[in-house]
Amino acid sequence: MKAGQAVKGAASPSPGTLYVVATPIGNLEDITLRAIRILREVGLIAAEDTRHTRKLLSHLDIHTPLVSYYKDREAERAGLILERLKGGLDVALVSDAGTPAISDPGAVLVGRAHQEGIRVVPVPGASALAATVSASGMAGDHLLFLGFLPARKKERCRLLKEVLRRQELLVFYETPRRIRACLADCLAVLGDRPAFLARELTKLHEETLRQPLSAIADELNRREVVKGEFVVLLAGAGPQAAKPEDAGLTELLRWYCVAGEASLKDAVRQLTRDLGLPRSEVYREALRVWREEVAERANRLNSDQPCE
Ligand code: SAM
Repeated sequence: MKAGQAVKGAASPSPGTLYVVATPIGNLEDITLRAIRILREVGLIAAEDTRHTRKLLSHLDIHTPLVSYYKDREAERAGLILERLKGGLDVALVSDAGTPAISDPGAVLVGRAHQEGIRVVPVPGASALAATVSASGMAGDHLLFLGFLPARKKERCRLLKEVLRRQELLVFYETPRRIRACLADCLAVLGDRPAFLARELTKLHEETLRQPLSAIADELNRREVVKGEFVVLLAGAGPQAAKPEDAGLTELLRWYCVAGEASLKDAVRQLTRDLGLPRSEVYREALRVWREEVAERANRLNSDQPCE
Protein backbone atom coordinates (compact mmCIF):
# COMPACT_ATOMS: atom_id res chain seq x y z
CA MET A 1 0.00 0.00 0.00
CA LYS A 2 1.28 3.47 -0.80
CA ALA A 3 2.27 5.71 2.07
CA GLY A 4 -0.68 7.48 3.62
CA GLN A 5 -3.30 5.85 1.39
CA ALA A 6 -6.80 5.41 2.78
CA VAL A 7 -7.40 2.13 4.55
CA LYS A 8 -10.43 0.43 3.04
CA GLY A 9 -13.38 0.47 5.38
CA ALA A 10 -11.83 2.88 7.89
CA ALA A 11 -14.32 5.54 9.04
CA SER A 12 -12.25 8.69 8.56
CA PRO A 13 -8.78 8.23 7.18
CA SER A 14 -6.07 10.55 8.35
CA PRO A 15 -5.25 13.02 5.60
CA GLY A 16 -2.40 12.37 3.23
CA THR A 17 0.74 14.45 2.88
CA LEU A 18 1.46 16.91 0.10
CA TYR A 19 5.08 16.56 -1.04
CA VAL A 20 6.49 19.50 -3.02
CA VAL A 21 9.10 17.78 -5.14
CA ALA A 22 11.90 19.45 -7.10
CA THR A 23 12.80 17.87 -10.44
CA PRO A 24 15.83 18.56 -12.71
CA ILE A 25 16.21 21.82 -14.63
CA GLY A 26 18.05 20.02 -17.43
CA ASN A 27 20.38 17.24 -16.39
CA LEU A 28 18.29 14.24 -15.33
CA GLU A 29 20.96 13.18 -12.85
CA ASP A 30 19.94 16.14 -10.73
CA ILE A 31 17.01 14.38 -9.16
CA THR A 32 17.49 13.34 -5.56
CA LEU A 33 17.17 9.80 -4.26
CA ARG A 34 14.43 11.01 -1.94
CA ALA A 35 12.50 12.60 -4.79
CA ILE A 36 12.61 9.31 -6.72
CA ARG A 37 11.34 7.39 -3.70
CA ILE A 38 8.54 9.86 -2.99
CA LEU A 39 7.41 9.95 -6.63
CA ARG A 40 7.25 6.16 -6.52
CA GLU A 41 5.46 5.90 -3.18
CA VAL A 42 2.75 8.55 -3.40
CA GLY A 43 -0.70 7.70 -4.71
CA LEU A 44 -0.87 10.60 -7.16
CA ILE A 45 1.45 13.11 -8.82
CA ALA A 46 0.06 16.57 -9.61
CA ALA A 47 2.09 17.82 -12.56
CA GLU A 48 2.22 21.13 -14.41
CA ASP A 49 2.31 19.25 -17.71
CA THR A 50 1.56 15.55 -17.47
CA ARG A 51 3.19 14.76 -20.84
CA HIS A 52 6.41 16.41 -19.74
CA THR A 53 6.47 14.66 -16.35
CA ARG A 54 5.57 11.32 -17.91
CA LYS A 55 8.89 11.43 -19.78
CA LEU A 56 10.80 11.91 -16.52
CA LEU A 57 8.80 9.16 -14.82
CA SER A 58 9.36 6.69 -17.61
CA HIS A 59 13.10 7.45 -17.47
CA LEU A 60 12.92 6.56 -13.75
CA ASP A 61 10.63 3.58 -14.34
CA ILE A 62 7.93 5.08 -12.11
CA HIS A 63 4.27 4.36 -12.85
CA THR A 64 2.40 6.54 -10.35
CA PRO A 65 -0.85 8.05 -11.75
CA LEU A 66 -0.68 11.68 -12.86
CA VAL A 67 -3.15 14.52 -12.71
CA SER A 68 -2.59 17.88 -14.36
CA TYR A 69 -2.19 20.99 -12.24
CA TYR A 70 -1.51 24.05 -14.32
CA LYS A 71 -1.46 27.81 -13.97
CA ASP A 72 -4.78 28.72 -15.62
CA ARG A 73 -6.82 26.30 -13.51
CA GLU A 74 -4.90 26.23 -10.26
CA ALA A 75 -7.90 26.99 -8.04
CA GLU A 76 -10.15 24.36 -9.59
CA ARG A 77 -7.44 21.70 -9.71
CA ALA A 78 -6.33 22.48 -6.17
CA GLY A 79 -9.88 21.68 -4.99
CA LEU A 80 -9.82 18.24 -6.61
CA ILE A 81 -6.36 17.41 -5.32
CA LEU A 82 -7.25 18.55 -1.80
CA GLU A 83 -10.19 16.14 -1.81
CA ARG A 84 -7.81 13.30 -2.57
CA LEU A 85 -5.45 14.45 0.18
CA LYS A 86 -8.32 14.67 2.66
CA GLY A 87 -9.30 11.16 1.60
CA GLY A 88 -5.91 9.97 2.84
CA LEU A 89 -3.89 9.88 -0.37
CA ASP A 90 -0.31 11.13 -0.42
CA VAL A 91 0.27 13.50 -3.35
CA ALA A 92 3.48 14.82 -4.93
CA LEU A 93 3.42 18.20 -6.64
CA VAL A 94 5.93 18.73 -9.46
CA SER A 95 6.44 21.39 -12.12
CA ASP A 96 8.04 20.97 -15.54
CA ALA A 97 11.49 21.73 -14.16
CA GLY A 98 13.00 22.83 -10.89
CA THR A 99 11.15 23.63 -7.71
CA PRO A 100 7.34 23.98 -7.89
CA ALA A 101 5.70 27.25 -6.83
CA ILE A 102 8.76 29.35 -7.71
CA SER A 103 7.59 31.17 -10.86
CA ASP A 104 5.66 27.96 -11.44
CA PRO A 105 2.21 26.71 -10.42
CA GLY A 106 1.88 25.37 -6.91
CA ALA A 107 1.31 28.21 -4.45
CA VAL A 108 -2.49 27.90 -4.55
CA LEU A 109 -2.51 24.19 -3.75
CA VAL A 110 0.20 24.49 -1.10
CA GLY A 111 -1.52 27.49 0.52
CA ARG A 112 -4.85 25.71 0.66
CA ALA A 113 -3.26 22.55 2.01
CA HIS A 114 -1.85 24.59 4.91
CA GLN A 115 -5.27 26.14 5.51
CA GLU A 116 -6.87 22.69 5.61
CA GLY A 117 -4.32 21.39 8.09
CA ILE A 118 -2.72 19.04 5.57
CA ARG A 119 0.96 18.34 6.11
CA VAL A 120 3.16 19.92 3.45
CA VAL A 121 6.65 18.47 3.01
CA PRO A 122 9.25 20.02 0.73
CA VAL A 123 11.53 17.65 -1.15
CA PRO A 124 14.25 20.07 -2.21
CA GLY A 125 16.45 19.79 -5.24
CA ALA A 126 17.18 21.68 -8.43
CA SER A 127 16.17 25.29 -8.81
CA ALA A 128 17.41 27.69 -11.47
CA LEU A 129 17.38 30.44 -8.85
CA ALA A 130 19.59 28.66 -6.30
CA ALA A 131 21.88 27.19 -8.98
CA THR A 132 22.55 30.61 -10.49
CA VAL A 133 23.00 32.48 -7.24
CA SER A 134 25.38 29.83 -5.91
CA ALA A 135 27.48 29.82 -9.09
CA SER A 136 27.70 33.59 -9.37
CA GLY A 137 30.00 34.38 -6.47
CA MET A 138 27.95 37.56 -6.10
CA ALA A 139 25.65 36.47 -3.35
CA GLY A 140 25.77 38.51 -0.16
CA ASP A 141 23.31 38.07 2.64
CA HIS A 142 20.34 39.56 0.80
CA LEU A 143 18.79 39.09 -2.58
CA LEU A 144 15.65 40.33 -4.23
CA PHE A 145 14.05 37.73 -6.49
CA LEU A 146 11.79 39.32 -9.09
CA GLY A 147 10.58 36.17 -10.88
CA PHE A 148 9.93 37.02 -14.55
CA LEU A 149 10.07 40.75 -15.25
CA PRO A 150 6.88 42.09 -16.89
CA ALA A 151 6.71 41.28 -20.60
CA ARG A 152 5.62 44.79 -21.57
CA LYS A 153 8.31 47.42 -21.70
CA LYS A 154 6.35 50.06 -19.85
CA GLU A 155 5.60 47.85 -16.85
CA ARG A 156 9.11 46.41 -16.94
CA CYS A 157 10.68 49.87 -16.78
CA ARG A 158 8.31 50.86 -14.00
CA LEU A 159 9.39 47.85 -11.94
CA LEU A 160 13.07 48.53 -12.65
CA LYS A 161 12.65 52.11 -11.47
CA GLU A 162 11.10 50.79 -8.27
CA VAL A 163 14.17 48.67 -7.52
CA LEU A 164 16.74 51.22 -8.73
CA ARG A 165 17.95 52.07 -5.22
CA ARG A 166 17.63 48.60 -3.69
CA GLN A 167 20.95 47.42 -2.37
CA GLU A 168 20.20 43.69 -2.53
CA LEU A 169 21.40 41.49 -5.37
CA LEU A 170 18.64 41.53 -8.01
CA VAL A 171 17.68 38.19 -9.56
CA PHE A 172 15.19 37.43 -12.30
CA TYR A 173 14.21 34.84 -14.86
CA GLU A 174 14.02 35.69 -18.54
CA THR A 175 13.00 34.09 -21.81
CA PRO A 176 15.14 34.01 -24.98
CA ARG A 177 12.61 36.19 -26.78
CA ARG A 178 12.88 39.05 -24.32
CA ILE A 179 16.38 38.78 -22.90
CA ARG A 180 17.99 41.42 -25.14
CA ALA A 181 15.25 44.02 -24.68
CA CYS A 182 15.23 43.29 -20.99
CA LEU A 183 18.98 43.79 -20.55
CA ALA A 184 18.78 47.03 -22.54
CA ASP A 185 16.08 48.30 -20.20
CA CYS A 186 18.09 47.25 -17.14
CA LEU A 187 21.05 49.19 -18.47
CA ALA A 188 18.98 52.26 -19.21
CA VAL A 189 17.20 52.33 -15.87
CA LEU A 190 19.71 50.81 -13.45
CA GLY A 191 22.93 51.86 -15.15
CA ASP A 192 25.94 49.65 -15.74
CA ARG A 193 26.53 47.23 -12.85
CA PRO A 194 28.35 44.00 -12.13
CA ALA A 195 26.18 41.22 -13.53
CA PHE A 196 25.96 37.48 -13.98
CA LEU A 197 24.03 35.66 -16.65
CA ALA A 198 23.30 31.94 -16.55
CA ARG A 199 22.04 30.21 -19.66
CA GLU A 200 20.91 26.61 -20.03
CA LEU A 201 22.28 25.51 -16.67
CA THR A 202 23.03 21.79 -16.38
CA LYS A 203 22.34 21.31 -20.10
CA LEU A 204 24.58 20.69 -23.10
CA HIS A 205 24.95 24.38 -23.95
CA GLU A 206 25.39 25.63 -20.41
CA GLU A 207 26.98 29.06 -20.30
CA THR A 208 27.71 31.61 -17.61
CA LEU A 209 28.95 35.18 -18.09
CA ARG A 210 30.20 37.29 -15.23
CA GLN A 211 30.85 40.76 -16.60
CA PRO A 212 29.47 44.28 -16.35
CA LEU A 213 25.87 44.41 -17.53
CA SER A 214 26.86 46.47 -20.61
CA ALA A 215 29.36 43.80 -21.70
CA ILE A 216 26.80 41.00 -21.32
CA ALA A 217 24.21 43.02 -23.26
CA ASP A 218 26.77 43.69 -26.03
CA GLU A 219 27.70 40.01 -26.15
CA LEU A 220 24.08 38.91 -26.64
CA ASN A 221 23.47 41.68 -29.18
CA ARG A 222 26.42 40.41 -31.24
CA ARG A 223 24.85 36.95 -31.54
CA GLU A 224 22.72 36.11 -34.52
CA VAL A 225 20.31 34.08 -32.43
CA VAL A 226 19.80 33.92 -28.73
CA LYS A 227 18.43 30.63 -27.44
CA GLY A 228 17.88 28.95 -24.12
CA GLU A 229 16.67 29.71 -20.64
CA PHE A 230 18.19 32.56 -18.68
CA VAL A 231 18.66 33.75 -15.14
CA VAL A 232 20.05 37.25 -14.65
CA LEU A 233 21.77 38.60 -11.54
CA LEU A 234 22.55 42.28 -11.08
CA ALA A 235 24.48 43.84 -8.24
CA GLY A 236 22.37 46.04 -6.00
CA ALA A 237 22.79 49.79 -5.91
CA GLY A 238 25.68 51.11 -3.87
CA PRO A 239 24.85 53.34 -0.95
CA GLN A 240 23.52 56.67 -2.21
CA ALA A 241 26.30 59.21 -2.75
CA ALA A 242 26.16 61.99 -0.18
CA LYS A 243 25.27 65.44 -1.42
CA PRO A 244 28.58 67.23 -2.11
CA GLU A 245 29.56 70.02 0.29
CA ASP A 246 30.71 73.42 -1.04
CA ALA A 247 29.97 72.37 -4.62
CA GLY A 248 29.09 74.70 -7.48
CA LEU A 249 25.75 74.87 -9.27
CA THR A 250 26.55 72.31 -11.98
CA GLU A 251 27.87 69.69 -9.59
CA LEU A 252 24.89 70.09 -7.29
CA LEU A 253 22.47 69.82 -10.20
CA ARG A 254 24.19 66.62 -11.29
CA TRP A 255 23.80 65.19 -7.82
CA TYR A 256 20.08 66.05 -7.73
CA CYS A 257 19.58 64.55 -11.18
CA VAL A 258 21.50 61.28 -10.72
CA ALA A 259 21.90 60.39 -7.05
CA GLY A 260 19.08 62.44 -5.60
CA GLU A 261 16.64 61.45 -8.38
CA ALA A 262 14.89 64.78 -7.98
CA SER A 263 12.73 66.26 -10.70
CA LEU A 264 14.22 69.18 -12.61
CA LYS A 265 11.58 71.45 -11.12
CA ASP A 266 12.34 70.44 -7.53
CA ALA A 267 16.09 70.75 -8.03
CA VAL A 268 15.71 74.25 -9.50
CA ARG A 269 13.45 75.35 -6.64
CA GLN A 270 15.83 73.99 -4.01
CA LEU A 271 19.02 75.39 -5.51
CA THR A 272 17.54 78.80 -6.29
CA ARG A 273 16.78 79.01 -2.59
CA ASP A 274 20.04 77.45 -1.30
CA LEU A 275 22.46 79.35 -3.54
CA GLY A 276 20.57 82.63 -3.81
CA LEU A 277 21.04 82.64 -7.59
CA PRO A 278 18.51 83.94 -10.15
CA ARG A 279 15.98 81.22 -10.98
CA SER A 280 16.51 81.69 -14.75
CA GLU A 281 20.22 80.97 -14.38
CA VAL A 282 19.60 77.82 -12.32
CA TYR A 283 16.88 76.68 -14.71
CA ARG A 284 19.09 77.14 -17.82
CA GLU A 285 21.92 75.12 -16.27
CA ALA A 286 19.48 72.46 -15.00
CA LEU A 287 18.13 71.98 -18.52
CA ARG A 288 21.64 71.43 -19.80
CA VAL A 289 22.52 68.92 -17.05
CA TRP A 290 19.26 66.97 -17.46
CA ARG A 291 19.72 66.82 -21.25
CA GLU A 292 23.26 65.51 -20.82
CA GLU A 293 22.08 62.78 -18.46
CA VAL A 294 19.22 61.74 -20.78
CA ALA A 295 21.66 61.54 -23.71
CA GLU A 296 24.07 59.45 -21.66
CA ARG A 297 21.31 57.03 -20.66
CA ALA A 298 20.11 56.77 -24.26
CA ASN A 299 23.68 55.92 -25.32
CA ARG A 300 23.84 53.17 -22.74
CA LEU A 301 20.49 51.88 -23.80
CA ASN A 302 21.58 50.54 -27.16
CA SER A 303 17.98 50.44 -28.23
CA ASP A 304 15.80 52.83 -30.19
CA GLN A 305 12.99 52.77 -27.66
CA PRO A 306 14.40 54.00 -24.37
CA CYS A 307 12.45 53.67 -21.17
CA GLU A 308 10.66 56.92 -20.45
N1 SAM B 1 10.51 26.74 -10.67
C1 SAM B 1 11.64 26.70 -11.57
C2 SAM B 1 12.92 26.59 -10.76
O1 SAM B 1 12.87 26.44 -9.56
O2 SAM B 1 14.00 26.59 -11.35
C3 SAM B 1 11.63 27.86 -12.49
C4 SAM B 1 10.47 27.83 -13.44
S1 SAM B 1 10.29 29.18 -14.48
C5 SAM B 1 8.76 28.79 -15.27
C6 SAM B 1 11.37 28.85 -15.81
C7 SAM B 1 12.50 29.85 -15.86
O3 SAM B 1 13.54 29.41 -14.99
C8 SAM B 1 13.15 29.93 -17.23
O4 SAM B 1 12.48 30.82 -18.08
C9 SAM B 1 14.53 30.42 -16.88
O5 SAM B 1 14.50 31.80 -16.63
C10 SAM B 1 14.79 29.68 -15.56
N2 SAM B 1 15.43 28.39 -15.85
C11 SAM B 1 14.86 27.17 -15.79
N3 SAM B 1 15.76 26.23 -16.12
C12 SAM B 1 16.91 26.86 -16.39
C13 SAM B 1 18.19 26.46 -16.81
N4 SAM B 1 18.47 25.17 -17.02
N5 SAM B 1 19.14 27.39 -17.01
C14 SAM B 1 18.88 28.69 -16.80
N6 SAM B 1 17.67 29.14 -16.42
C15 SAM B 1 16.70 28.25 -16.22
